Amino acid sequence: MRDNPRLFINFPFSIGAEIPLCKEHAHYVHNVMRLKDDDEITVFNGEDGEYSAKIKYSSKKSVVVELVTKLREQENLPDLTLFFAPIKGHRNDNIIEKATELGIANLRPVLTERTIVRKINTEKYLLTAIEAAEQCERLNIPKISELNYLASAVEGFDGKVLFADEAGGGKTIANANPDKGDRIALLVGPEGGFSDKEREFLLSHTNVIPIALGKRILRADTAAIAGLTLLQTFYGDF
Ligand code: SAH
Repeated sequence: MRDNPRLFINFPFSIGAEIPLCKEHAHYVHNVMRLKDDDEITVFNGEDGEYSAKIKYSSKKSVVVELVTKLREQENLPDLTLFFAPIKGHRNDNIIEKATELGIANLRPVLTERTIVRKINTEKYLLTAIEAAEQCERLNIPKISELNYLASAVEGFDGKVLFADEAGGGKTIANANPDKGDRIALLVGPEGGFSDKEREFLLSHTNVIPIALGKRILRADTAAIAGLTLLQTFYGDF
């Protein structure tokens, strides 16, 4: 655990810039962490790398920081996408949090026949992703798309979709063999899995490769985490 807070701040960065923190961050820095003038925090904005920032002014209601040194240059993550059917409650938060920690670039919720959650709050998804990015030291926030139908999500993806097929018969990720340079996405279904019609649709597409995640049936959040770990191992930056 780092001993100074690391915060995502949506503001252009340059040395010497003075930046007011939002209400939540100000509360965290002043009241929770009890930092004082001249204490340092770490900040990133998703575009300009990571900076160390000194507290210039701090009160119960507002905190202003000044950027003092650049700690890290911005770096791009592997262009990996996760298509997932939103599920209920904390397991869905788990998918967003863990996918962010595992370095996903694009989070794309999809509507399938058995998706129980039919409406999503992308603002809330974003807050979960920001918290995870602050904690895991990545330098950007994953892009989060609006909910899309499975068919248009898959057909509109300009790369290979590795379809986590719990019905068996899929290849191991090691044997999926997408073409070099292909964009890669993982597709994980809802708790009730995919319908026969959806499997048929997926298997008939040339940009879809069915893959297996072992011999056991995993819950949707576990499947996303396990699948992304493997994706990062074979096509990412692990
Ligand atoms: N249809 C199942 C459970 C679905 S598990 C049932 O109710 O019995 C949720 C999702 O996780 C699946 O749609 C699939 O995408 C993924 N998944 C789970 N276990 C898997 C495995 N062994 N191989 C590939 N994908 C798996």
